[in-house]
Amino acid sequence: MIKIKASKIKELLASQAHPREVLVQGWVRTRRDSKGGFSFIEINDGSCLKGIQAVVDHSIASFKKCEAEITTGSCVAINGQLVVSEGKGQSVEIKVSAIKVYGTADPDKYPLQKKRHSFEFLREIAHLRPRTNTIGAVMRVRARLAFAIHRFFNDRDFIYLNTPIITASDCEGAGEMFQVTTLDLDKAPRNGGKIDYAQDFFGKKTSLTVSGQLEGEIYAMALSRIYTFGPTFRAENSNTKRHLAEFWMVEPEMAFYDLDDDMGLAEEFLQFLIRDVMENCADDLDFFNERIDKNLLANLNLVTGNEFERIRYTDAIHILKKSEEKFVYPVEWGCNLQSEHERHLVEKVFNKPVIIFNYPEDIKPFYMKMNEDGETVRAMDVLLPRLGEIIGGSQREDDLDALTARMKKLDVDTDEYWWYLDLRRYGSAPHAGFGLGFERLVQFVTGMENIRDVIPFPRTPNHASF
Ligand code: ATP
Ligand code: MN
Repeated sequence: MIKIKASKIKELLASQAHPREVLVQGWVRTRRDSKGGFSFIEINDGSCLKGIQAVVDHSIASFKKCEAEITTGSCVAINGQLVVSEGKGQSVEIKVSAIKVYGTADPDKYPLQKKRHSFEFLREIAHLRPRTNTIGAVMRVRARLAFAIHRFFNDRDFIYLNTPIITASDCEGAGEMFQVTTLDLDKAPRNGGKIDYAQDFFGKKTSLTVSGQLEGEIYAMALSRIYTFGPTFRAENSNTKRHLAEFWMVEPEMAFYDLDDDMGLAEEFLQFLIRDVMENCADDLDFFNERIDKNLLANLNLVTGNEFERIRYTDAIHILKKSEEKFVYPVEWGCNLQSEHERHLVEKVFNKPVIIFNYPEDIKPFYMKMNEDGETVRAMDVLLPRLGEIIGGSQREDDLDALTARMKKLDVDTDEYWWYLDLRRYGSAPHAGFGLGFERLVQFVTGMENIRDVIPFPRTPNHASF
């Protein structure tokens, strides 16, 4: 082997093939031997969907040494000339001068054979599934989206803020929180029959965060525009295709924004992200459109090519009640919209993304700003085709008295949120924000059906391996 700077396959496939010496390192996808004394080895290194074809003359000395070890799944390094391919299906290939095996993969045992495997099966071998075309493509798109999110906010002078993962406030998702403790559960200290959290690590009961919003508001009230992008935890026992126990959330929070501004930013954000991946991950998206969801590109175009429909909750309820559709969950003013209702509005009624706003106060959290009607709050949800809700947001209550009244009504402890109320006491400002579920976005952009297949290591009820 000659040690030169290794090339990524992505770069080689995109390059004009003037012959040159290259070094490629990757995993063997397939190997085909010809009668004429040649082997055709397809090597993939994850840099792009396609592999590169390496043509080996059986008389090469290094090949003779490892010939039996070059099997699907083995890891190899190859030296050779990058040349124009005479075969079909690729423009360039490598004429191998030397080959080395880093790691073998016993063909009788290697679980990833050339056939198609179900996504359920692949979840059981989550340590090997990144070597499949689909999971590889998902993770490239996911990484690109993360980059595009930072770019979007950076371009608009938002400050990237890291909010805590361990939190002592438990209003938002009381029943849905994972507790964090160092107490020995078998002999937890008690005080008057109840667990004595004063003796726990933090001296009080703590949990994993369900949202960074409240802390985000603190920094928006000083830096004007911030966003968080971090892990979020919800112990909701819902075994659906759109819920994880551990997921990533993006939460911008903006001083001086009202609900309209908030909806405008959400729309611009989604359109920006989707345009970015369409431009930068075209091969992967074509693959998804071909193999995973034939409507994928059409759905992405619905987002980039339309102004989002903005409709009041009350009007949405009217439309749903008048509809001929048989819903599993009946619709009444005051009810939470189910995924079937959301999809009906997006896919049947408007055929483009829809933002529903001004929800009944009873189904929304304490921090949302009351409307003058006295019965709705300035909340909004962005709904996409196929998926339903991808973003939830609101204008926050910035008036101390109104906020205190609403907290009392909803039985939220005002003492515990003294700091949140202080923000309304000192230099309060109108502000708004939203939360985007990052995996929901990846799901939408890739067409993948199950959210468990768009995160490297999914956590769901009874599943925390790897
Ligand atoms: P849903 O009604 O779909 O359960 P939610 O209303 O509880 O969502 P929010 O609290 O509004 O969710 O959270 C903001 C965003 O985070 C949602 O719009 C969604 O994209 C995402 N999200 C919420 N819960 C989950 C979850 N368990 N797994 C993955 N993403 C989630
Ligand atoms: Mn929501």
